Amino acid sequence: MIGTLDGKIPSGPLDQKWRTHRDHSRLVSPNNRRKFEIIVVGTGLAGGSAAATLGELGYRVKCFCYQDSPRRAHSIAAQGGINAAKNYQNDGDSVYRLFYDTIKGGDFRSREGNVYRLAEVSNLIIDQCVEQGVPFAREYGGLLANRSFGGAQVSRTFYARGQTGQQLLLGCYQALCRQISAGTVQMFPQTEMLDVVLVDGHAKGIITRSLTSGKIERHSGDAVVLATGGYGNVFYLSTNARGCNVTATYRAYKKGALFANPCFTQIHPTCIPQSGYYQSKLTLMSESLRNDGRVWVPKRKEDCKKPPNEIPEPDRDYYLERKYPSYGNLAPRDIASRAAKEVCDEGRGVGPGGRGVYLDFADAIKRLSENTIRERYGNLFEIYHKITGENAYQVPMRIYPAVHYTMGGLWVDYNLMSNVPGLHVIGEANFSDHGANRLGASALMQGLADGYFILPYTLPNYLAGQTGKRPSIDHPEFKKVEDDVSARVKKILDVNGKRSLDSIHRELGALLWDKCGMARNAAGLREALGKIPELQEEFWSRGRGVRVPGNGEDFNQALERAGRVADFLEFAELMCLDALERDESCGGHFREEHQTPDGEALRNDENYAAVFAWEYQGNPAMAGPKLHREPLHFETVHLTQRSYK
Ligand SMILES: Cc1cc2nc3c(=O)[nH]c(=O)nc-3n(C[C@H](O)[C@H](O)[C@H](O)COP(=O)(O)OP(=O)(O)OC[C@H]3O[C@@H](n4cnc5c(N)ncnc54)[C@H](O)[C@@H]3O)c2cc1C
Repeated sequence: MIGTLDGKIPSGPLDQKWRTHRDHSRLVSPNNRRKFEIIVVGTGLAGGSAAATLGELGYRVKCFCYQDSPRRAHSIAAQGGINAAKNYQNDGDSVYRLFYDTIKGGDFRSREGNVYRLAEVSNLIIDQCVEQGVPFAREYGGLLANRSFGGAQVSRTFYARGQTGQQLLLGCYQALCRQISAGTVQMFPQTEMLDVVLVDGHAKGIITRSLTSGKIERHSGDAVVLATGGYGNVFYLSTNARGCNVTATYRAYKKGALFANPCFTQIHPTCIPQSGYYQSKLTLMSESLRNDGRVWVPKRKEDCKKPPNEIPEPDRDYYLERKYPSYGNLAPRDIASRAAKEVCDEGRGVGPGGRGVYLDFADAIKRLSENTIRERYGNLFEIYHKITGENAYQVPMRIYPAVHYTMGGLWVDYNLMSNVPGLHVIGEANFSDHGANRLGASALMQGLADGYFILPYTLPNYLAGQTGKRPSIDHPEFKKVEDDVSARVKKILDVNGKRSLDSIHRELGALLWDKCGMARNAAGLREALGKIPELQEEFWSRGRGVRVPGNGEDFNQALERAGRVADFLEFAELMCLDALERDESCGGHFREEHQTPDGEALRNDENYAAVFAWEYQGNPAMAGPKLHREPLHFETVHLTQRSYK
């Protein structure tokens, strides 16, 4: 039974909270650390940094990922950059400003205490990564360079060309390898966590399946850390790596961990438009491009079919610059995405199907030279060319919004611990500090803040009271959960149906995109809630449902994916329920019923300034998930209608 949700935000002035908390947190002495085994699931920037740091501190860490190497985690795809309040540009930035921009960017749906801590810690991340040798871009004189990202009027984004995630992950991976070699971290690649084991209500282990041999195994630990990333692929098409999924967090939810704000999805405005039905992935064109690219569509529908260079200046509508003069092309993602949808809905979209807008570099090339643009974004132009066959130095890119990031995730308190004692959640997998909309370049910041600088201080708070409590894997609870996992694998294979996984997943994705995507309304959400159980039945019906060839004792990617799609099918219901229950618009959650006269999201602070956290109650057909609310208290910022005009 879950009582009041307590975020455990320390009292005292905002800028003292984290220091005070650290000063009064419990410690584990150096000699005792090796007595604790910590399970870390995930090796992206969040999990990799946590595992390396905990290993360095002297804990024994078991680290898991489903890729063949930790450095293939999805974090490697991050392009644009990472924020920090260094104020190297001397343009007025500060910890407070980064904090404020993040709270406002998230449409006032995140915790002040957490976000301030994130802004404070941001500067340490840059120092740490520079020490590791991460090759951040530099100015001519050798100082670290910065660029701007959406929702900020300063340049605070550190970057390594368009490969920031890759370079950060390589730094993190080196730190991890050092610990693997030192023997403090034991690495389990190609191993998928399929459930969490609770003993006396505490998370004390996991059940895994080897993706190469199919072997199911038990692992016990003193604490479990989930760093398993986001679930944007529930929509089938997204900018996420194909493997990203919800399984780890969803199965923890079914074990009692609360799932917070599942409907908060980020739709990124600058992605290459979908070009065909059988496409399985969408490609991001980094937000950094909006530093120099100008977004426009023709003013008149009749011009949409003309080549862009035949449309003269006066006939172009630079709609972001027109609507949001102070932020212009760097309006935040939710706002820029909706603006793109709006002009396309008006019939002014360009490219096949009219679902595209131009991102034009002609002015920047004239002003700065093609070479400068190539230096800044060369690899992104190359990706664009490879996919579309078009040379964006000569013709504008075509872009359209796509699912990109999930602000929802498992609920955690200030210590990054879920409501299940011992179960900690970091990075994109937790419900995060980004509220209802994440600002660009803030996910890498949050993942690394959690892993390098927050969890290593807060985990001992839990561990200090756990000496000698690690159960043996012979504990009956391990056997029970292992049996459940094996039974589920068998159940999937037994369906022996006819439909391909992709066809079911694609259908689910299209339904969600339509009813729970960039715009939502009560009728559409109810319709989706009616259809999702039908799709679940379709998936599971024996002889007719999903077809998974092969067996469970071997490398079987269809089986891996089937388990994940089955979880998406259940999780999608929770998303729609959350979106229906939150009867307001905020950030990326745009309920069509609630908008200002000029079409912006209209919050309802009186009733919805809260985190929604859902508790699993068993079979949803018998008893739906139970909603808990954590009210958000704003002591420093004043809640206003978010404006970027
Ligand atoms: C194309 C793209 C570009 C981006 N660019 C930027 C950017 O420029 N700046 C920015 O701030 N953010 C960016 N983001 C967002 C950012 O990359 C992610 O939010 C962040 O990298 C997530 O890191 P993570 O460590 O939480 O998870 P991930 O990097 O997704 O890692 C998840 C890990 O968990 C493991 N895992 C998952 N489930 C299981 C399981 N069941 N069992 C075992 N292991 C499991 C995986 O193997 C992996 O190791 C971008 C996102 C995309 C899609």
